[in-house]
Amino acid sequence: TYILAIETSCDETAAAIIKDGTEVVANVVATQIESHKRFGGVVPEIASRHHVEQMTIVLEEVFAKANMTMEQIDAVAVTEGPGLVGALLVGVSSAKALAYAHQKPLIGVHHIAGHIYANRLQEEFTFPLLALVVSGGHTELILMKEHGVFEVIGETRDDAAGEAYDKVARTLDLPYPGGPEVDRLAQLGEDTLSFPRAWLEEDSYDFSFSGLKSAVINTLHNAKQKGNDLKRENIAASFQASVIDVLTEKTYRAAKDHQVNQVIIAGGVAANKGLRASLEEKFKEESIQLSIPPLWLCTDNAAMIGAAGTIAYQKGNRAGWDMNANPGLDLESYGMRGRS
Ligand code: ATP
Ligand code: MG
Ligand code: FE
Repeated sequence: TYILAIETSCDETAAAIIKDGTEVVANVVATQIESHKRFGGVVPEIASRHHVEQMTIVLEEVFAKANMTMEQIDAVAVTEGPGLVGALLVGVSSAKALAYAHQKPLIGVHHIAGHIYANRLQEEFTFPLLALVVSGGHTELILMKEHGVFEVIGETRDDAAGEAYDKVARTLDLPYPGGPEVDRLAQLGEDTLSFPRAWLEEDSYDFSFSGLKSAVINTLHNAKQKGNDLKRENIAASFQASVIDVLTEKTYRAAKDHQVNQVIIAGGVAANKGLRASLEEKFKEESIQLSIPPLWLCTDNAAMIGAAGTIAYQKGNRAGWDMNANPGLDLESYGMRGRS
């Protein structure tokens, strides 16, 4: 089965061709980071315009790389949501046009299902499975007992992990996107400030990062007023230590409580060096299999949409020609579609 996948939910225009849900035939990502940098974040209108400009170029490139034509494609999968509505619409419209013109089935994919299925391009899933999703807009612990069905057992009550990284980066005058910059600085510093860890209720798998973010901002502010010289490296390291402690401990406890066979991490923050090392250390002695994706599969791409789209295709999920971008698409109900 060959799936053509398209992803335009945020600031990456991406297309990929995936074979049998596990093999990347071709993968193209055109990032817009440079265009958004001077604004310190993604500007929705600019994102949409870039997607329009890039879409056909990216599609031509993916077919050239794969040395394939539309005739050899079995279905077209596209990110239906969540994301920026104007950005999503470019991908959805392009996918519809291509699928309709070539009379191929159309499949709508949930962006977070995509982030999770990025891991299957590297390693087959063994259920029950726990996914730690840490991205720009999501921080969730998701339990899966079978393909394509998702149970959210924990989530953030305020900021997403990536969002917290980006905000802390801004207060440290680091360029957008801040996550990788804070990660880099953190490697050079030490956890000298002991910021709070938001454990919440004892049995909760939920997360909270807004208190930590405020603690970082206040610490910086107070130091500036008193003329104290705080090392940015230590602020970054202290912030990162707090985030990682909570993510690692909650993931570990959820994995134990639900007796999972596999733990996977997904989303942009899964690229974080500290988080990867901490989870590896924590699960080292465990029989639970830990799957950590390569960096190119952590941030937004279309290969992951093709991997998730293949499962939807195999389950018989087909979108109509009336499919619309859905910025608030819910993961659990998305996973219930086409369930036998
Ligand atoms: P979502 O997937 O929730 O819709 P998104 O698509 O914008 O959001 P991703 O592309 O998955 O998010 O991830 C981007 C986020 O990952 C940004 O917040 C970025 O700062 C963060 N990020 C990337 N690399 C790192 C890193 N090494 N350490 C920490 N954060 C990182
Ligand atoms: Mg992005
Ligand atoms: Fe994403």
